[in-house]
Amino acid sequence: MAANQEGQENKAADLLQLSKTKNLLQSDELYQYILETSVYPREHECLKELRELTKKHPRNHMLSTPDEAQFLSMLLKLINAKNTMEIGVYTGYSLLYTALAIPDDGKILAMDINREYYELGLPIIEKAGVAHKIDFREGPALPLLDQMIQDEKYHGTFDFIFVDADKNNNINYHKRIIELVKVGGVIGYDNTLWCGSVAVPPDSIMDERLRYFRDFMMEFNKAVALDPRIEICQLSIADGVTLCRRIS
Ligand code: SAM
Ligand code: CA
Repeated sequence: MAANQEGQENKAADLLQLSKTKNLLQSDELYQYILETSVYPREHECLKELRELTKKHPRNHMLSTPDEAQFLSMLLKLINAKNTMEIGVYTGYSLLYTALAIPDDGKILAMDINREYYELGLPIIEKAGVAHKIDFREGPALPLLDQMIQDEKYHGTFDFIFVDADKNNNINYHKRIIELVKVGGVIGYDNTLWCGSVAVPPDSIMDERLRYFRDFMMEFNKAVALDPRIEICQLSIADGVTLCRRIS
C-alpha cells in the first residue's frame, strides 16, 4: 500500500474513533483521569442517571459528555444565567444540567423536532425537581425563532443560548439568535471541531455524513470568527464548543 494512502486510512480510522468517543484529548487515559478525578465525584445523581439511561439509546452518540456538562454548568453560574434557550434537546442531558445550574425562577425555552426523545428523560428531570423551569416546544427550531424575531419583546432577552441541533443550520441559527441574546450574553455552539474532521485535508478518506457536516461546520467556524458583533472562544473540550459573547 502506498504510504500516502496508508496515512489517509489511519487518519480515517482515527476520525471514526473520535466520532465514537467525542474526545479530542491525546489519550483515553488522560480523559478517564479527568472524569474520575474531577467530574464523576461531583456529578448530580440525576445527571448520572440520565446519562446512563441515554447510553442505552440507539442514538446515544448525540449525548454530550459529562466534562462538557460540568464546564457549561460552571459557566451558567459564572454569568448568572437566568433566561436561557436550548436548540436540540435529545433526551435532555444538557437541558438538565442547565436547569440545575440556573436559579429556581430561571427559564429554559427548549426546542426539538422530537418529543419522544425528550419524554425519555423527562421523568428524571422531574425527579431532580427542575421541570418547572422548562418550556419545551416540539418542532423545527427555525420557524419558532422566526416567530420570536417578529416580536420585539424577545429581542436581547436571553442570557445564554445553547445550540446543538442540525449543524447544517448553525449559520441560520446564528443569524436569528444574535438578535435574541442580550448584549453581554453568551451563545454556545456544540461540536464545532466535528470529531477533528475540520482540520484534515479535503481529500482524506471520510465517512460521507462526517464530510457533509464538516463542510458546514468549517463555513460556520469561519463566519463566527469574522462576526464583529461577538467575541469568540473555541474550546477543545469534548467535540469542540464555541462560545460567542455578544458585544453589540
Ligand atoms: N443537547 C443534547 C445533549 O447534549 O444531550 C443533544 C442534542 S442532539 C445532538 C440533536 C437534537 O437536535 C436531536 O434531538 C434532534 O431531534 C434535534 N434536531 C434536529 N434537527 C432539529 C431542528 N431542525 N430543530 C430542532 N431540533 C432539531
Ligand atoms: Ca452535541
